[in-house]
Amino acid sequence: MDYAVPAPVLPTLTVAGRGERFPVNRVFCVGRNYAAHAREMGKDPDREAPFFFMKPANAVVDAARPASVPYPPKTANYHHEIELVVAIGQGGRDIAVADALKHVYGYAVGLDMTRRDLQLEARDKGRPWEFGKSFALSAPIGVLHRAQDVGHPSAASIALMVNGQPRQSSDIDKLIWSVSECIAYLSVYEALEPGDLIMTGTPEGVNAVVRGDVMQGAIAGLGEIQVSVSA
Ligand code: MN
Repeated sequence: MDYAVPAPVLPTLTVAGRGERFPVNRVFCVGRNYAAHAREMGKDPDREAPFFFMKPANAVVDAARPASVPYPPKTANYHHEIELVVAIGQGGRDIAVADALKHVYGYAVGLDMTRRDLQLEARDKGRPWEFGKSFALSAPIGVLHRAQDVGHPSAASIALMVNGQPRQSSDIDKLIWSVSECIAYLSVYEALEPGDLIMTGTPEGVNAVVRGDVMQGAIAGLGEIQVSVSA
């Protein structure tokens, strides 16, 4: 195939214990999926329907090994959000909650890096969140663990430290909308495809990082990621 311009690189993730890599299609992200985080964002954590935003595939950074991301432009409030990431292996639409986990290839630890000042400005003006959320290299993701190897975690500690100091600490059993419910709900609006990722939302404790900071995130059973912020 001859392309008229250079073709984009397909982002991929490392799969634990396997030679093959996971090709990233789309990145769906759940907003305000832990009550304590909804409250710290100034919103009531009632169980209204989940809502989603997206990141481009070029947001994904393979953080299977210690990685670094550049401090992004046009922000003075660059935030970390530690999240459970779900990788879709089998596509589908109108997926039942009871069937949803069959569509999961695996799980990983990820960061939904956010230009919080741009996100809140957009939110308060009723504008899209793209400039706050959907920029290149804004989703470092660790090693992907296959569900057939690690099962489907429903309770596990999730935590983030910055420069060795605790920032976020919770448990994925506090997700307002479970992995199954997120998959089922999303699949009604958009047919899921192999390679899609779902970032399931962050617990409380989001805060800013600056150049030179080192973030260490972990979810019990899914390992750790280490991501530093470069100039
Ligand atoms: Mn998030």
